[in-house]
Amino acid sequence: MSNTNGQFRGQLPRDIRMLIGNSLVHGDGPEEPILNPRTGTKILGLQEATDEQVHQAVTAARKAFSGWSRSTPGERSTLLLRLADRIEQMSEEFAALEALNCGKPYHIVLAEEIPAVVDCLRYFAGAARCLQGSAAGEYMEGHTSMIRREAVGVVGTIAPWNYPLMMAAWKISPALAAGNTVVLKPSEQTPLTSLLLARVAAEVLPPGVLNIVLGRGESVGNALVTHPEVDMVSLTGDIATGKKILTNAAKSVKRTHLELGGKAPVIVYDDADLDAVIEGVRTFGYFNAGQDCTAACRVYAGAGIYDRLVAELTDAAASIVYDRSNDDENEIPPLISQRQRERVASFVERAAEHPHMEVTTGGGNGKPESPGFYYQPTVIAGARQDDEIVRREVFGPVVSVTRFDESDDVVAWANNSEYGLSSSIWTNDVSRAMDVSSRLRYGCTWVNCHFMLVNEMPHGGMKQSGYGKDMSMYSLEDYTTVRHVMIKYA
Ligand code: NAD
Repeated sequence: MSNTNGQFRGQLPRDIRMLIGNSLVHGDGPEEPILNPRTGTKILGLQEATDEQVHQAVTAARKAFSGWSRSTPGERSTLLLRLADRIEQMSEEFAALEALNCGKPYHIVLAEEIPAVVDCLRYFAGAARCLQGSAAGEYMEGHTSMIRREAVGVVGTIAPWNYPLMMAAWKISPALAAGNTVVLKPSEQTPLTSLLLARVAAEVLPPGVLNIVLGRGESVGNALVTHPEVDMVSLTGDIATGKKILTNAAKSVKRTHLELGGKAPVIVYDDADLDAVIEGVRTFGYFNAGQDCTAACRVYAGAGIYDRLVAELTDAAASIVYDRSNDDENEIPPLISQRQRERVASFVERAAEHPHMEVTTGGGNGKPESPGFYYQPTVIAGARQDDEIVRREVFGPVVSVTRFDESDDVVAWANNSEYGLSSSIWTNDVSRAMDVSSRLRYGCTWVNCHFMLVNEMPHGGMKQSGYGKDMSMYSLEDYTTVRHVMIKYA
């Protein structure tokens, strides 16, 4: 199954339905069109859940909670491994649907994203069995205290459109491993793989443990956030969405887990290996057309390397293949929607109006003859610290380059951002790498690489990029609550 030539050659699954309890059901709310970003055409229309259906999903999750949270870690682990196996067996079907819905090159989804989803489930299947409270002891004479780490309850989890199945896996896996039950709402733009997951989950998991409802943020998302039986809300999304959810969740003092945007600084010192820098930024500045919260999009280049970096990055970005009708040749997708393309284009147009900045490649509609949402890989040189293109998340295939001299405090520039998700340093000086990485205020700093994620290590932000950790034992802990039990001796 592939979508070579922009045509989906597989079959849409028969059961494109939501999962509520043990039932696969259609939404009864208004219909949303699901578009193919490569052609701009409608794939199908899907009805969103009504408030009553959200309520049924939350009720099913609440009912399932007592059994699931008291199942043994070994039992939960076995079922998560089974879910991982089923997704792995259906890799091609999942990859084809994700490629269709997001416009992503099929071969990249199959090689990169689906294995990462499967590994995430397997990691948390193992982690479920390693969760511990801290040591028990006597902290008052005649009393023994112990710490229990327990599931929070019903988790409402809300995913974005850039890696729909992977973001869902990052949230569902630790939540279920810890004994929570879940109601997942995928992005209204990219629900297809989550709806296939619904079918698989219905076969593998006990009823109500995972529920999947469809719809827009302001209707279905908000119904989840404000539902009194939802104990915790987990979001990957925009900062503005995070703020709205915090405000609404505050009304019932719900626990929140927020993974928000990013604007990753990439600090390149004069002694860096320029070939490695260019390869790294070419790949990870433009991966998924820059629709990535860790995208290597804000380059700071030392004065001694700046000119060569701009020239070579310009050539490298111009060589990225994205517009071939044979999808096997493409390296990146179009943007997700016409709206996103207009947003990206407006950032570049505003930057180009400033005489100190130069668009050295790109800056235009990538495929004017196509109704798809293409945008050219773009480099903007000469950007300054205060420019909008340096400060705001573009979420498109656009990399800015800012020059710094020895007298400039480039670490302060890098830190001077409302975002705090990820960053990278490129240098051959180990002492400098250690010093700068200790001073950067980002959830992750990579040295001489960028965007390397492993399930054993945490991914999450500081500052307005949010405070929830995905992946790793830290994520498992985020989906648990600590309890103290004290026993008085007779
Ligand atoms: P978005 O914030 O528009 O939407 C994310 C999800 O929130 C969607 O499912 C949407 O329906 C829902 N939503 C919107 N308004 C809501 C509301 N009022 N109440 C409840 N739910 C609501 O984000 P997006 O455009 O889908 O994704 C792009 C954003 O996500 C970018 O800012 C990107 O940086 C961020 N992102 C962050 C990470 C990370 O790990 N930190 C990963 C991927 C994407």
